[in-house]
Formats: sequence, C-alpha cells, structure tokens
Amino acid sequence: MTGLTRNTTHLMPITERPPIVFTRGAGSYLYDEAGLAYLDWMQGWAVNCLGHAPDVIVAALARQASTLITSSPAFHNLPAAELASLLVQHSAMDQVFLANTGAEANEGAIKLARKWGQLHKQGAFEVITFGKAFHGRTIAMMSASGKPGWDTYFPPQVPGFPKATLNDLNSVRALIGPQTVAIMLEPIQGEGGVNPASLAFMRGLRALCDEHYLLLILDEIQTGCGRTGTLFGYQQYGIEPDIMTLGKGLGGGVPISALLAKQHCCVFEHGDQGGTFCGNPLTAAVGIAVFNALIAPGFLENIELRSQQLTDGLQQISHDLDLGEVRGAGLLLALELAAPIGPQVVDAARRNGLLLNSPRPQCLRFMPALNSTEVEIRNGLRILRQTLEHCRNAQTVAV
Ligand SMILES: *Cc1c(COP(=O)(O)O)cnc(C)c1O
Repeated sequence: MTGLTRNTTHLMPITERPPIVFTRGAGSYLYDEAGLAYLDWMQGWAVNCLGHAPDVIVAALARQASTLITSSPAFHNLPAAELASLLVQHSAMDQVFLANTGAEANEGAIKLARKWGQLHKQGAFEVITFGKAFHGRTIAMMSASGKPGWDTYFPPQVPGFPKATLNDLNSVRALIGPQTVAIMLEPIQGEGGVNPASLAFMRGLRALCDEHYLLLILDEIQTGCGRTGTLFGYQQYGIEPDIMTLGKGLGGGVPISALLAKQHCCVFEHGDQGGTFCGNPLTAAVGIAVFNALIAPGFLENIELRSQQLTDGLQQISHDLDLGEVRGAGLLLALELAAPIGPQVVDAARRNGLLLNSPRPQCLRFMPALNSTEVEIRNGLRILRQTLEHCRNAQTVAV
C-alpha cells in the first residue's frame, strides 16, 4: 500500500476513506498509485455496470464531446430524444425526464405524484415509503428514506412520507388515508442490506394501488439497468409501476438518471420541472451506449450465469464457515455474516486485493460488473473465502 501523494485537506471530510488512491480502472479491476490491482466488486456502488473505462463509454464520450456537449434545456437535442425512445421501447413506461443523480430523479417522481394528486385526488400528497429504504440524500429524499436517525438529522423534516414495513402488506394498508397519493419502494432495498420485496408483497401493493387509486412508484436506481438479471427489477414480479426512476447503472459511471412514467400520470406542465444539466447530450449519449450494451444478445444471459456462479460460491462459503443467508438477485447479492464484523472484513479483503462493501455491519454486499467473466468471479470467491477464514480465526483468537 502506498501513502497519499496528494493533499486532501481541502476536501470536506464526509466519510472515512482508506489511505489509498486509485488512479486507473479497467474492466473489473482498479489500480492504485503503485500499480497494484484490486478486483472491484463495488464498481462505484453498482454504477459501473460495464466495468471500468469500457470502450463503448469512452467512444461515446469522445464522439459526443467533440460534437455537442450542452446546448441548453431550452432546446431539443438528438441523444436525449434517442435515449428516451430506447427506454420507452424497452419498458412499460411512456415518457422520460432525464436528470443527473438518483436523488434528483426521485425528487421528480415525488413532484409528479403530488401534481397528479392535485389534479386527480383533491390534493393528496402523502407517499408511503418503507423502513430501511434508501432514496437519496436531498432533504426530501432523506425524509423519504427509512434509515434510522434520518428523520432527525437536519430538521425540520419534509412531511408526507409515512413509513411502512417491507413485506408486510397490513402495515401499508394501515397507513392509507385520504391524503395518500402513492406508494414508493425499491424492488430490492440496496443500501438497507439487499432486502428483496417478495413476489406476493409486490403484487399486493399493485392491487392496493389499483383498489385505492394510488400510484406505484418503483425506485429502480439500483435494481434497474440489468443489475438484477432483467432490464428492470419489476419485470420479475409480473407487475408494472406507474412511475419508475433509474440512475447508477444507466450511465455506467457517468452521472445520468431518469424519471419515467406511464401516460396517465405524465402531468407536468411547462415550468414544473427542469434543470441546467438535465438531458444534456454528453451524458445522454453515454446512456444510449450503455443501454445498447445491455440489450445486446447474450448480455442478460451472462448476468444470470455469473449470478448463479456467485450465489453457489457464496452458499458454499456460508455452509463451510457457518455464516448466514445468501440473498438478492442477478449481480446484487448479499451474504449475512455470523457477527457484525463487516467493516473489518472489507478492510481485510481490500488488503487481499478485493473491494467489497458492507451496507450493514453484519452483511456484505456484492456488486460486480455485469460483464464479469467466470474467471473473475472464481478469483473473487477465492479471495473472499481466504479473507473470511482469516477473519474467523482472528476472531476466535480474540474471543
Ligand atoms: C443510490 C441510490 C439513490 C440515490 O442516487 P444518487 O445518485 O446518489 O442521488 C436512490 N435510490 C436508490 C435505490 C439508490 O440505490
């Protein structure tokens, strides 16, 4: 490991970071200043769906940067129109608003739902969200999220986000009232520890929405764009949302997000929504390149194969080392540990050349590139096993 060669004291400290600087990435690997390779199973938090610096993104950026970077949100541009058409063709949605971050897309979803409530539900504005949910870090999205403590972090709180419990339909039913306009959830809670909504629950929510004339909003910022094995997570439930948000994988590492909706709730009027960089040609061109890679023949099939391989490997490790549940879908998987030692495992794995994430102390989350190879998955499983064996021995000694 090398020391810092850059002065970082002028960056606001927002999180603890290891004493390491990555200077290059290629495919499934990141390289530090000394040139050491790390197998990256974080991929920018499930962002780099095609791995680091993939040719198609490099080419799209170069091509579009030398053609047109930004005209203005006051004008149409070709990449934004083409990306919107692609997303509509391949989803159950009818119209798209392009934005830059996940939180921004979700804010748009809430605005759209509240506007729809003004027009169709006598001003109803409440959006039922869930404990352990994560919807972003703006003030409103912190209120929508179900992270413990986030309701008292930066008071006053934005009202209108009562919390139900995932996979408990009665907890949702109990919150529906005259002010309710929508229900919003992640098909699999990512930051909350990879907690999937069950099939029965998701179908139950769709039925509740239909019965009470509510909108179903799916935050697919993490689960969309192939991450769970299908283009969008909702496709595995046999239901369709009214509103959906995408982010993360949509740009493969370049910041772009999208708010999508069915025609019946596309109610924005001129002036309701906008943003300086929203729908800029540079990032839209990248979105097109990424999406074309996702829908290329064989791409989703590879995710399924690698998912099966990783799931089998994790289950074997869990069995051999007496660990807990393996859960998730596609290449968004988690392993429950026997003790809250996630952060220590993450540190040890990094020293062994594998980058992992621990969204909760007793849980590891795996988000490899969607185009990972069989050999890469096998290598990651090998390093993970060695690391966990070592951590267990160290723990036994400590106890
Ligand atoms: C990451 C994430 C967000 C927030 O996206 P940002 O780009 O960080 O604003 C929202 N919802 C889910 C499900 C996410 O995983």
